[in-house]
Amino acid sequence: SSRRSSKVSKKPQVLTFDDIGGQERAKKELMEAMDFLNRADEISKLGIRPLKGILLTGPPGTGKTLMAKAAAHYTDSVFLAASGSEFVEMYVGVGASRIRDLFKEAKNRCAKEEKQNAIIFIDEIDVIGGKRDGGQQREYDQTLNQLLTEMDGIHSEDTPRILLIAATNRKEMLDSALLRPGRFDRHIQVDLPDKQGRMHILKLHANNKPLDPEVELEKVADETFQFSGAQLESVMNEAAIYAMRDGSETIGQQHLSFAIDKVMMGEKTDRESTQ
Ligand code: ATP
Repeated sequence: SSRRSSKVSKKPQVLTFDDIGGQERAKKELMEAMDFLNRADEISKLGIRPLKGILLTGPPGTGKTLMAKAAAHYTDSVFLAASGSEFVEMYVGVGASRIRDLFKEAKNRCAKEEKQNAIIFIDEIDVIGGKRDGGQQREYDQTLNQLLTEMDGIHSEDTPRILLIAATNRKEMLDSALLRPGRFDRHIQVDLPDKQGRMHILKLHANNKPLDPEVELEKVADETFQFSGAQLESVMNEAAIYAMRDGSETIGQQHLSFAIDKVMMGEKTDRESTQ
């Protein structure tokens, strides 16, 4: 995740739960939580406290960002995104004001676009919300405190309604203040896809590609055990590049096999070079 810039979004603006492969349980849980937002008036009448924060946990590249975007679409919400890594080199106080601005911008955009809800997505929340007992994270205290203050300031009768969705692949690193009731108290696990999930993801990413009729995606799904969605997307893309190099107009099984090896090797070298 640290390799991608959060500021440059190459993904399509409209993204629905149907564009996410596999992850059936996580999608269902997230949709159920989103119905809380869709039925906020009833919920407020019953005196149920508003849902303020959802934490998506799981390994990199499994579709957490896609999930947050789909949730925004499902609830007709304004979508804003930030990443914990943006805050790394900020001077004291700048992080806190960036958080304040995010909430302000959410409200402004709701007014401008006439929307009832805003979803603020914070990727790599562990960077600003890491445990505070080590002394090491002190420079992020103000940023984290500001986030907690903003969340505590959300009330059920507020319009627009603001919901935070945060993502981390290191849940155990988070400060307990973030996980308290009324904060990120709902957790959804986004795991590596199983074989069926991998098939689904491969099909989605093969959609705009000319596959040779002899290709068996099932074989690809078999050979990509423990690949993330992001890696599967890479496999399809690399296979297309191999096809181009071959001067072939379609992607064949062999191109896919090479691509699997390439993505597998690539991951290994990445890991070795960071150790
Ligand atoms: P990170 O933790 O690294 O930020 P993430 O879990 O937020 O990762 P995304 O950014 O949502 O992952 O996914 C990266 C890319 O991988 C997506 O843009 C998409 O192309 C592909 N991808 C990942 N998961 C899926 C999925 N379940 N279905 C379809 N495509 C997927």
